[in-house]
Amino acid sequence: MVHGVPDKSSLSQFRLKRALGVLASKEGRGTELISLYVTPGKQIYDVISQLRQEYTTASNIKSATTRKHVQDAITRTMQRLKLFKTPPDTGLVIFCGALPQNGPGSERIELYVIVPPDPIRIYTYRCDSKFLLDPIREMVKVKEVYGILVMDASGAIFALLKGGNLEIVREITSGVSGKHRAGGQSARRFERLREAELNSFFNRVGIYASEIFLQVPNLKGILVGGPGPTKYDFVDGDHMQYTLRGKVLSIVDTAYVEEQGVEEVVEKSPGTLLAVRYREEKQAVQKFLYELGHGTGLATYGEEEVRRSLKGGIAQMLLLSAELKKTRLYVKCQSCDHREERTVSTADLHDAEDEIKNTPCPKCNNKNMVIDETKDLVDDFADMAEQAGTDIEIITKETAEGEMLRDSFGGIAAILRFKQSQT
Ligand SMILES: [Zn+2]
Repeated sequence: MVHGVPDKSSLSQFRLKRALGVLASKEGRGTELISLYVTPGKQIYDVISQLRQEYTTASNIKSATTRKHVQDAITRTMQRLKLFKTPPDTGLVIFCGALPQNGPGSERIELYVIVPPDPIRIYTYRCDSKFLLDPIREMVKVKEVYGILVMDASGAIFALLKGGNLEIVREITSGVSGKHRAGGQSARRFERLREAELNSFFNRVGIYASEIFLQVPNLKGILVGGPGPTKYDFVDGDHMQYTLRGKVLSIVDTAYVEEQGVEEVVEKSPGTLLAVRYREEKQAVQKFLYELGHGTGLATYGEEEVRRSLKGGIAQMLLLSAELKKTRLYVKCQSCDHREERTVSTADLHDAEDEIKNTPCPKCNNKNMVIDETKDLVDDFADMAEQAGTDIEIITKETAEGEMLRDSFGGIAAILRFKQSQT
């Protein structure tokens, strides 16, 4: 267990998907939304000097409104870039543009910065009516890789399943004699010969499996298929490298070898593939349920309880439902120094805003309270967790455990490093 290095992978996926949803809905008046993809090796001052040229070019735009919007967006983008000395390790993406707030004429410059999970490969500056999102969409696609081996006594085929794409890597024939011996050959001699041929075929399959599957980083598992019992003889025998043997998720019967057999394996394994994808989420919730069920004092749940454990620095892992849909409001009084925080359902944000305006300040009694800042509750908790060095798991609703976290525990739970002292 490594402490102090928060695991943010499920969090960054969640944030990226959420940002994509927001950005995809944005549309400019004309072609005035800027998308800027900066590669990791690029010098910030090179990018800025290119933006200066774009600014000059934009002065040729005929429509005065569009010209102003584009030039304002370029200026804001340059200002934001200057906050970086160098691009982050994976590069940097900035989306900026004048966006209507409430019908035409109500445009205001909005700016979004994304540090991508995978490196930006191509430097891009684009000005369009929509933001350029495809390079980021690629990054949120499922990237899990599975190995597939389909075989019988006649041959074997190796394939990789990457996200939704099947890639046939290699096909080999066995060289094993047919089941029927030639005339004049003794039955025993024929059996011995066939066994030796099968054994050498199995060894070759094992070598190819190592060559093909061991070079895939984070291979999630191997699916084996084929007609008849040969595939079981291969897996049960000592022909495959031991780490690969441990990765065999399922063995299924197929009617074919060849490419059709590979497709059959994928069609027959959706349960297995999903199970692997959600295994980490299930395990995290199950660990929480175990601690809770055994009364170890190492589990806590509910917004206030978990908030206290994070602030106290005793939370080891934070579990957040991706379905929280709540917002944390930071409220301040404009007449005195009173401040308060509250959590509302994101759907009720506007009602809450009205209510706060009409509520007298508990300290000075003036009706002068406003929302100073709003924050998605997931981010509010994630920020606290990052400060405390707490691991974060974002839990989808795709498993029974995920539904339970959302419905029975308010979508917020934590596993603690040690028992909370009773006071
Ligand atoms: Zn006040």
